Amino acid sequence: MFQYKGGEIKFENVSFSYTPGIPILKNANFTIPPGKKVALVGPSGSGKSTIVKLIFRFYDVDSGRILIDGQDIKDVSLESLRRAIGVVPQDTLLFNDTIYQNIHYGDFTASYQDVSKAIMDVKLDRLIYELPDGLNTVVGERGLMLSAGEKQRISIARLLLKKAPIICFDEATSSLDTQNEQSILRVIRNIYREKNNTQIAIAHKLKTISDSDKIIVLEKGQVIERGKHKDL
Ligand code: ATP
Ligand code: MG
Repeated sequence: MFQYKGGEIKFENVSFSYTPGIPILKNANFTIPPGKKVALVGPSGSGKSTIVKLIFRFYDVDSGRILIDGQDIKDVSLESLRRAIGVVPQDTLLFNDTIYQNIHYGDFTASYQDVSKAIMDVKLDRLIYELPDGLNTVVGERGLMLSAGEKQRISIARLLLKKAPIICFDEATSSLDTQNEQSILRVIRNIYREKNNTQIAIAHKLKTISDSDKIIVLEKGQVIERGKHKDL
């Protein structure tokens, strides 16, 4: 059972490949300090999304260890691990279900009010309440087609409900316009600030990660830890 104690994430000599012989990470070592906001940067294909997937234990590493709060993620139950980690993935996956259910999935104990609040936080209230079926509108193949930015915002609303102590944003606001992005980032910061959550943000726009405490740069399977944004 995973026990959250602040959210320190440590990669110790981690090697990983999807295809044998094509390593994505080679003996990677880095630490994400508890309660800090860390940016993960690097060229396309360098393994940024892979790192998030490894933390969520979508895949097991080939060698080395990933420790969260000193616990090897291989030694704790998947369910307890995943309950502690919230991910807004690069490609939002929505279920062919109502908007309400898609958001409620973040926390099955959330009330209708909690869902409504999350929708306002991600600025989807106008769009949703103009729909004839409102929150009960079905999205996906059989229902409403949403833009990439709207899907991202549903995914962020889901995360806001989940209230996981460790959160990963994988290009989570890449499809949003600057104004929407800034206001949603502000909401996320306000919700999470008081709790000192560990945050990992992958973003191409430097402005999105400009307030990071630490920057981790990925290049050809190697990881270089850097200080703040201004040091890059
Ligand atoms: P981007 O900035 O474009 O999102 P990234 O840094 O997030 O790139 P990853 O998605 O982590 O890159 O992919 C790293 C490498 O692993 C890429 O070369 C990619 O093709 C490969 N890869 C990713 N997922 C898989 C998979 N499921 N099976 C095989 N190879 C994969
Ligand atoms: Mg990626």
